[in-house]
Amino acid sequence: MIAKLIGAHIPIKNGLGGAVRHGKQIGCTAIQVFTKSPQLWKAKPITDEMVADYKKACEETGITEVVCHDSYLINMAAAGEELREKSILGLTDEMNRCAQYGIRYLNSHMGAHVGQGVEEGIRLLVKGAESALKNSDPSVMLLMETTAGTGSSLGATFEQLQEVLDGLHGDQRVAVCIDTCHIFAAGYDIRTKETYEETFAKFENVIGFDRLKAVHCNDSIGTLGSKKDRHAHIGEGEIGEEGFRLLVNDKRFENIPILLETPIENQGHERDLAKLKSF
Ligand SMILES: [Zn+2]
Ligand SMILES: [Zn+2]
Repeated sequence: MIAKLIGAHIPIKNGLGGAVRHGKQIGCTAIQVFTKSPQLWKAKPITDEMVADYKKACEETGITEVVCHDSYLINMAAAGEELREKSILGLTDEMNRCAQYGIRYLNSHMGAHVGQGVEEGIRLLVKGAESALKNSDPSVMLLMETTAGTGSSLGATFEQLQEVLDGLHGDQRVAVCIDTCHIFAAGYDIRTKETYEETFAKFENVIGFDRLKAVHCNDSIGTLGSKKDRHAHIGEGEIGEEGFRLLVNDKRFENIPILLETPIENQGHERDLAKLKSF
């Protein structure tokens, strides 16, 4: 394995500091966290003690690459104005919470157009992102995550992601996160050397590796193009080991956080990390 930044999404029951320490314990060199419950709009304010503990944990462990994932409730492309407004404020708040901790990246789901059509969905998403970027701390970057294309979710093609980047006039605070399960379910094959190279050549052509800041590393329960967003342990899903072996030995991913979002039960992350490291 040549990838240097490898880790997982870690629960924050002992705070963000606790998550960093737990990540180190299980062998992570990068982690992903929430800064609040992803199922609720409300969030507890962040205290100086919480920030101090987080920074201390980063120092102790040497973990500096931390990605934050946003709330599942946010949909900036929603049809109703109330939910849309709430989502924009929610995303802005998430970005400012990252800034309080000194976290560089907020990973965001691109939302769903809920019947309004892709074009209108992207227009609303761009408008929302523009507002959130304007009203949040400039130290934080917004990462748009590729989706599986379930229902009317946006971002299942590299072209749609690029449309959003274009809509934001190439703002350098916006970049991309690839989820391996999602792209596979959306129809991008990475199972063999040939298909892997083909998929990432497409990515390079449409978006470009310079805009890639994180990877979600998940095998897929759903088959190629199934549009199912269900994560499997590495090598135990439809993608299989080879795609991940290629990924963690690919120079282009050497310094990009590669983060598991696989099931956590029965030492799931420990097993998946060990497998990736064995490649
Ligand atoms: Zn993901
Ligand atoms: Zn997913």
